[in-house]
Amino acid sequence: MSGEPVLQARDLRVYYGTPGKPVRAVDGVTLDIGESEVVGLVGESGCGKSTLGRGILGLLPEGARADGEVIYGGRNLVTLSPRELRRLRGPDLGLVFQEPMTRLNPLLRISDHFHETLKQHEANLSDDEIRRRSLETLGRMGIPPTRFNQYPHEFSGGMRQRIMIALALVLRPKLLVADEPTTSLDVIVEGQILALLADLKRNFGTALLLITHNLGIVAEACDRMAVMYAGKIVEEGPVREVFADPAHPYTRELLRSTISLETTELHSIPGAPPNLIDPPPGCRFHPRCPDAMRVCAQLVPIEQRLDGGRRVQCWLHGPERLIPADGEQPLEREAIGVADEA
Ligand code: SF4
Repeated sequence: MSGEPVLQARDLRVYYGTPGKPVRAVDGVTLDIGESEVVGLVGESGCGKSTLGRGILGLLPEGARADGEVIYGGRNLVTLSPRELRRLRGPDLGLVFQEPMTRLNPLLRISDHFHETLKQHEANLSDDEIRRRSLETLGRMGIPPTRFNQYPHEFSGGMRQRIMIALALVLRPKLLVADEPTTSLDVIVEGQILALLADLKRNFGTALLLITHNLGIVAEACDRMAVMYAGKIVEEGPVREVFADPAHPYTRELLRSTISLETTELHSIPGAPPNLIDPPPGCRFHPRCPDAMRVCAQLVPIEQRLDGGRRVQCWLHGPERLIPADGEQPLEREAIGVADEA
């Protein structure tokens, strides 16, 4: 990571209550997001990406419980009251959702949306200043001033998404979480939105957590990437290094499933992500992993740091020996079934 972290998640856990056991949607995630940095969060549907994005912002639905730390500005967001969190949202932390139409009020003009957003956080702003800041931000998103007084239904899907981004940016947040911001858009508009998001750090100094299942987007727009599987970040590092040499078999399989101009054969990862109420023991990817060893079904992998600022949770990368908690003799890799099968 370059620069100071804007936000640090430490052993973050988000569980959803069910009548039986809880759903462990985010299960011990550690992640730093640096100043002006774009971090891609990838993984299949149902791996906990959106929950992590919302957990970071304290925007969890009723029935969800968060534990651990999300340090922002020296405070742990997990322990803040809803009122304190609301105060931070907007001027400090912003969110762009997937479906802009469900977030824009069809009865309000775009100008009203900006007025409401700015007044909520900066009550003393004059109408002239609101108009100036709104038009400036919309202009950066390619929306001309002539459209300021129009209603949401008068815009295309791509323009509505740009308006949503502008609404999040008009408060100059230090960190923006964008959850699949291009999912419902065609490829041309998707490219435009991505270019805009990648420009955020240049224009506003905003750090961005970009949640997506699209690895092409990550390759184009992100500095670092975190790969999420079954509630855990299994690999994290600079985009270039991870793409060139994925350390975790799940990352490797995900990259193989990406369609590119060179693709001659479609690849998909057999099976599906596990039920997060009762995930498999040991490494959660082991039932689907082509490299699984005996140890993988028994023990949770211990995170290893690799060269180039990378982290990975996979027995293929170590450690060399295990120190049992009860102070018994250390176990060599052979004894836990690594070396003989790797
Ligand atoms: Fe595969 Fe084992 Fe690594 Fe998990 S720990 S990804 S099962 S090799």
